[in-house]
Amino acid sequence: MIIKNNISLKPCNTFNVDIKAKYFAEVNNTKELKELLSNKQYISEKKLILGGGSNILFTNNFDGIVIKLNNLSIKIISETKENVFVQSDAGVEWDSFVKYTIDKGLSGIENLSLIPGNVGASPIQNIGAYGVEVKDIIESVSIMHLDSLEEKILLKAECNFNYRNSIFKNELKNKFVITSVVFKFPKQNCVNIEYASLKNYFVGKDENEITSKDVRNAVISIRERKLPDPNKVGNAGSFFKNPIITKEKYEELKNEYSDLNGYPETNSKIKISAGWLIEKCGLKGKHIGNVGVHEKQALVIVNYGNATGNEIVEFSKMIQNLVQNKFNIKIVNEINII
Ligand SMILES: Cc1cc2nc3c(=O)[nH]c(=O)nc-3n(C[C@H](O)[C@H](O)[C@H](O)COP(=O)(O)OP(=O)(O)OC[C@H]3O[C@@H](n4cnc5c(N)ncnc54)[C@H](O)[C@@H]3O)c2cc1C
Repeated sequence: MIIKNNISLKPCNTFNVDIKAKYFAEVNNTKELKELLSNKQYISEKKLILGGGSNILFTNNFDGIVIKLNNLSIKIISETKENVFVQSDAGVEWDSFVKYTIDKGLSGIENLSLIPGNVGASPIQNIGAYGVEVKDIIESVSIMHLDSLEEKILLKAECNFNYRNSIFKNELKNKFVITSVVFKFPKQNCVNIEYASLKNYFVGKDENEITSKDVRNAVISIRERKLPDPNKVGNAGSFFKNPIITKEKYEELKNEYSDLNGYPETNSKIKISAGWLIEKCGLKGKHIGNVGVHEKQALVIVNYGNATGNEIVEFSKMIQNLVQNKFNIKIVNEINII
């Protein structure tokens, strides 16, 4: 276990915001995690679990202990006639896990290729991309209470998964650390290329011959074209969630804007693209100082230099207000502001 004092978290968050943590601890397994959490020196400190820092925006120095899990084991724990169950520790990098499953000939999470961050954070906002959400393949999530150290396994049904949401962003927020996740992969090839950009990518190909590796390569190529690389320019992917509006509101907008697309959430609710709303406000590619809207993907706010977390928050509020004024639609943050 390594514990450092007064450390800059700039290399630990993809927005590249330069703030400091009072303490920063890296633990290699749950035994070390328990030792740390029961250490008298840190018991009353505020705690933050940090994965890859790709869904977080720091606005202040963190006056407490930031804990990073470096537990890195992946193993196939059981098999039935139809399924393979794979357990991954929370500290494993998400995309390495996707690659591992594909190398084992499994399919189910290839559409989630190249999403930054670690396995431990994947259930928190129920990561999703290209028509797949991680909940589709999660079997259970192992957690440890930050105070009592009680360990529990939550089955998928107990996680209240929803669009970019789960129990971990609500009732259990800041109370537990996710230590590992079990995923249930069907043995049958289940690649999903229903999402429009994947359908276009594979046009003319026999669907039965498309492998999870083909889909991974397609997703990587599409994402690399569209999204800014956080290793080159600070960002945390989508800043806002896509809003879910009533069918009436959708039809009202569609009458005015024929290029609006909607994705039914329920019989009466439609999800629309927050990026489209931002683009229609004329904000795509616009900068204020070091902060801007990405020129290819309006849902992404970019730190082009040494912007502070507060400058980024102010910029995001300006976007929310413009969208609210133009469309009377509230867009809410996807990222975690600390
Ligand atoms: C370029 C880019 C593209 C992206 N594309 C997508 C996308 O397509 N789809 C998508 O859903 N997301 C996307 N994201 C967002 C992000 O990658 C995911 O939300 C990811 O799961 C965050 O993982 P992380 O390890 O970086 O979490 P962090 O940012 O480190 O943490 C996020 C939150 O989870 C908490 N947390 C982290 N690990 C644990 C744990 N083990 N136990 C308890 N709490 C924990 C943190 O305290 C924090 O509140 C993108 C981000 C970037 C930068």
